[in-house]
Amino acid sequence: MPRFCALATSLGMAASLRKGKSGLGKDCYTMYDGKPLLEFHMQKPAELLEAMAKLDELECTEMSGYHSTELLAICETAKVASLKRLYGRNLTVVSEDAGGFYRSTSGVPEAFVDGPGVQAADWYLRWRTYETRIAKLETLVAACDGKASLEQIGASVEGRPIWAVRFRGAGWTPGAARVVVDFELHPREWIVGMAGIYAVEKTCEALRAQPDWLANTEVVFAPAMNPDGSIWSETDNRMWRKNRADNNGNRCKGVDLNRNWDPDWAGRESTSGSKCSDVYYGSAAFSEPETQALKNLLDEAPVQIHLDVHSFGNLILAPWSYKMEFHEQRAAIDVPGKLMLEAMESVHGESYTYGGSEALYPASGVCPDYVGLSGGFGYTFELRPKSRWGGGGFAPPEDQILPGSEECWAGIVAAIEWTKNPYTTPPPPPTPAPPTLCDPAFSNGPDSDGDCDCNSGLTCYEGSSRGCTFSSAGRTSTRYFLPSCATCSCK
Ligand SMILES: [Zn+2]
Repeated sequence: MPRFCALATSLGMAASLRKGKSGLGKDCYTMYDGKPLLEFHMQKPAELLEAMAKLDELECTEMSGYHSTELLAICETAKVASLKRLYGRNLTVVSEDAGGFYRSTSGVPEAFVDGPGVQAADWYLRWRTYETRIAKLETLVAACDGKASLEQIGASVEGRPIWAVRFRGAGWTPGAARVVVDFELHPREWIVGMAGIYAVEKTCEALRAQPDWLANTEVVFAPAMNPDGSIWSETDNRMWRKNRADNNGNRCKGVDLNRNWDPDWAGRESTSGSKCSDVYYGSAAFSEPETQALKNLLDEAPVQIHLDVHSFGNLILAPWSYKMEFHEQRAAIDVPGKLMLEAMESVHGESYTYGGSEALYPASGVCPDYVGLSGGFGYTFELRPKSRWGGGGFAPPEDQILPGSEECWAGIVAAIEWTKNPYTTPPPPPTPAPPTLCDPAFSNGPDSDGDCDCNSGLTCYEGSSRGCTFSSAGRTSTRYFLPSCATCSCK
């Protein structure tokens, strides 16, 4: 299989590739060369989900983080006309050449060559290939004064080792403070793979400065959870999201490793049973060896905090992801949640959003909900950029790598500090929304989810459009609206 991104680096050709279509051969953007990059302008989550289903059907490469109403996609030129008819002015063509666009704004991964004048921090100035990242891990662990161990926790579909770096502080026994952080279940989220290496580097540095920092505490990083997918994304398909499962010889490969979990595996929210879908949930819960590896790691001992790191959107998502209902421990979950938020925002003044699926929309069978089954708190980080348009989405400019990694590290430190001393001074309970948001003359709300429910015979409107809203099940509804929809009314 051609691995031109990596090969190009070793031949010193990356710089010319970076400048544009070079004719030198294939890279991870080639399959998008000459294909239009489309931007959809959706007002509401329901419209967005509908558009995403349409893009799935057309087998476009859809590039939403599933967490905002922004949507970019790359489609075959032949499919654009029908999309234009369907979406009219809500659709714009950002670039006629998506491959060239991302090649020039984000670039390809490179090896790292040490030498005179090269600073250690330079490592984070460019995307690094999978092999370069694993080599860096080995170097970091070897230089960590015996505080870290590099362990194989499983093997990928194609047989590549899956690595974890374990920091087990003196005095730790199972049941004591434990934080597990996994990175890059989704390979196209390259900044996440970089942030994973950064976290290992910074933990070693912190332990050098304060050797007993992790006393009675275990912290485990799994910095590259999807090796096959990562390499595929670096060599052949920059926007690859799934693993490389062959799905019994189906023409479409891969299972979404963030839809392959319990609770609510194969549930209705943001999932698909179609093997060609980017959110295909697999043949069974935990069917994939990568999922199994992370599950086993989590199962080794109780986990207080599990962080599942993704990009993009600048978000910290609290459990549950699979349902709109408030987690029964939500007030306690919000304590470390808001500490992480504060920490991440304080690094560069970059704003992040904190919330559960009540603030966004649900997703079934996702990884961070799993530790919730045994009492742990599982959060999703969505790193930089905040926005796909201008920010680059999954392929941001390389100058985002270091600040994004620094913010992620700050969030991890906050999680570790809280876990070492898990005080719970719950802030005032968040939503369900106060009843005053619902006009009793017109509505019955809030219901158990904090939604308002229009009285019989009345329909919910947001602004001037009807049926703008979500029901408690996260579906489009003409009757319910979320408490955050301040402009909703029953007519
Ligand atoms: Zn992701």
